[in-house]
Amino acid sequence: MRLIRLGAPGVEKPAALLDDDNYIDLSDVVDDFNEAFFAAGRMDEIANVVAERWDTAKPIGSTRIGSPIARPHQILCIGLNYSDHAAETGQAVPSEPILFTKSPNTMQGPNDDLQIPRGSVKTDWEVELGIVIGRRCSYLADEAEASAAIAGYTIVNDVSEREWQIERGGQWSKGKSAPTFNPTGPWLVTPDEVGDVLALDMFLDVDSTRKQDGSTSTMIFSPAFIVHYLSQFLTLEPGDLINTGTPPGVGMGAKPPTYLTGGETLTLGITGLGVQRQRVLA
Ligand code: ZN
Repeated sequence: MRLIRLGAPGVEKPAALLDDDNYIDLSDVVDDFNEAFFAAGRMDEIANVVAERWDTAKPIGSTRIGSPIARPHQILCIGLNYSDHAAETGQAVPSEPILFTKSPNTMQGPNDDLQIPRGSVKTDWEVELGIVIGRRCSYLADEAEASAAIAGYTIVNDVSEREWQIERGGQWSKGKSAPTFNPTGPWLVTPDEVGDVLALDMFLDVDSTRKQDGSTSTMIFSPAFIVHYLSQFLTLEPGDLINTGTPPGVGMGAKPPTYLTGGETLTLGITGLGVQRQRVLA
């Protein structure tokens, strides 16, 4: 199943996709795809409603697509989770997942404009697989339990200001939390529909130039490993989002480094999870 939220920012309505172009409204059944929805474990119920309502589908057309989940309790991020990306940034492959946080209010729709923050000279892109948590997780016993706690997957652009992330003291969150810095979506895809999550192609284009061309097969720590691992340190809440790291091809890794200046269009996608497109505003 593929879940989607449609409408103006802040008042999106929950829906499910019938196919790539048509949706089935669920706003009379579900308030939102939020913490309460995931905590209640309503995925099977929703699948039944979708099956019954196939003949009520409407075209998405030009309707705005929001993030596929409501603003989460937390956005957690894993750094340097692709061996080839660690190499391009000149850093060692980590022995344990590197964790940083991102302000939940960075989340926005997949095609909303990306705003370069004031004073930024090193705004960079990162296509990533996003994990959405399906239930409260604390001290999960093993990776099987962790897999069962994953509600689905989505695409995130983990936009990063490299000067603020690396050169301004402290830890990475400073360079990750500017407004508009976490485009999410277009869909939340349930694990059964994703298939093998460790065999998904991913790409990111800046205008017509392919910058990132990778695969989840080169991830160091798998989604199940990450969810199990994080649950030993903190409580994951239903509807939380985890950005799982980016493959090679970020601006910081180019020689010389190249950053966004405004006026570009970013296009990014992952197999089966859809495509995002953002205009970059100076
Ligand atoms: Zn990242």
